[in-house]
Amino acid sequence: MNSSIKAHPLLGSWSWQIASDFVVWTPALYELFGLYPSQPPPNWARHASLYTPEAFAKLEHAVQHCLATGESYALDLEGVHATGRTIYLEIYGGAERDEHGAIVTLFGQCIDRTAQVLALRELELAKAEAERANELKSHFLANMSHEIRTPLNAIIGMAELLEYDSKRTDVKECLRTIHTSGDTLLSLINDILDLSKIEAGQIELENAPMDIRECIEASLSIISSLAEEKGLELKLSIDPALPKIVQGDSFRLRQILLNLLMNAVKFTAKGSIKLSVACADEPLSNPRINFVVTDSGIGISAEDQQQLFHVFSQGDASFSRRYGGSGLGLAISQKLVGLMGGAIRVESEPGVGSSFSFNIPFVTTDKLPRNVTLGSPQPEMSFFLGMNNPLKILVAEDNKVNQQVIQLMLSRLGYDDVTLVENGLEVLESLAQTRFDLILMDIQMPEMTGLEATEAIMQQYPEEKRPQIVALTANATKEDRATSLAAGMKDYLIKPLRREQLATALQDVYSRMPPKPPRQAINSADLD
Ligand code: ADP
Repeated sequence: MNSSIKAHPLLGSWSWQIASDFVVWTPALYELFGLYPSQPPPNWARHASLYTPEAFAKLEHAVQHCLATGESYALDLEGVHATGRTIYLEIYGGAERDEHGAIVTLFGQCIDRTAQVLALRELELAKAEAERANELKSHFLANMSHEIRTPLNAIIGMAELLEYDSKRTDVKECLRTIHTSGDTLLSLINDILDLSKIEAGQIELENAPMDIRECIEASLSIISSLAEEKGLELKLSIDPALPKIVQGDSFRLRQILLNLLMNAVKFTAKGSIKLSVACADEPLSNPRINFVVTDSGIGISAEDQQQLFHVFSQGDASFSRRYGGSGLGLAISQKLVGLMGGAIRVESEPGVGSSFSFNIPFVTTDKLPRNVTLGSPQPEMSFFLGMNNPLKILVAEDNKVNQQVIQLMLSRLGYDDVTLVENGLEVLESLAQTRFDLILMDIQMPEMTGLEATEAIMQQYPEEKRPQIVALTANATKEDRATSLAAGMKDYLIKPLRREQLATALQDVYSRMPPKPPRQAINSADLD
């Protein structure tokens, strides 16, 4: 009760007859200044003692102006209480005229705002202190995580070495546990380090030429095997208008994508995960690119969606035990997307699935990413490979995830003229309609295997009309290789496919093709 009375500011009224210098105050005004109502109210001259000198100067100025023009005034002034302490006042004044229009009286009100002003100051102080403490915490965490990372890397590295060398399976298993636990700890420390750096304003994003498709490929190749293990279908849709090279931070973009994709795999037991990347309708030189990761997983309740991007938040306390994780991934992703000038959001329905989307404005560039080396020793590892060695390619692969990964790899090497089929029969059907330069042929396929399809092609097509066939297989034995080559295949690639291998094989295929009229090779100098 008491506090609510105190919280109510004192409001006093006053009037001042100018000719007689006679002042009238209401009792609240006496209380406000700490004076006794039995005393006569101070005349104008004595007002100087009721304010700080600066405040009185302001008041005098306003009063003079009011006397001269009749204009009312409103001021925030520092007053002096009878005890000597400063009080914060809101003062209003106006003029009253007589029947001839002469100003005879000033009158107004005075409100004590001391409690509010002091409370606000305290709040500001507390806020500044909290910010400082948070900054110190972030610095501390950043330093600690860095210090922890160094020995942890050594532990992981040594465990890996010993595991490799050890002959005893029980020892190998122990070392494997040290290794994987170390990895888990390291990724947690990395998350904490990232978040503290962002919070301490220590993260500087790169603004270098980068290949968006490379980020997509790198993220997908990491999660594709996890998705496959869980029997999840991985889908990818890339807007053909997506620019090849933009300015940005590829490492951080990959981190965001990976966070969202990993979560999608983690929280989805069956169905599919889809990544769509599209350009928003904006100028080509300055596109806003939209990334969407959709899953058919457990979904997130409307209530949990509110908390999702907060540090250490996990949908349900039991989740962290069931699914693992630190609850930092989305908080970091949101901050990184924000630093890149974009926004991230979620749409989700429990039991149906979730869709996380973010968009980032980019600037396209003609410059090449640092990791693309032109005129480098063979093979060329950028999209110039496809520009200089064009091929029409048929990919025969029954696994959807692998299809997407191969397509993406080809696209990054500059091969967009790619048709996907799922078995040997479809290969034969496609060949009947279109002429291809190359078939990347999986060996194990339903309906008709790669070997059977190869044998059929060798019989049906004369050499000059026959595409070159390169085997794709997870079986890495010498016999398999020999069988494939004996069936008429030109080369043999082992899964998981590596980009260098694929690039070399593509270059070899092109060099085996009948000569075409010479064409100008394209390189980075043409782009600059
Ligand atoms: P972590 O996954 O390490 O716990 P995140 O910040 O990445 O941390 O995610 C926070 C929480 O958000 C998760 O624990 C989970 O409850 C929820 N979540 C994130 N992504 C998904 C998703 N795709 N489907 C369902 N829940 C999700």
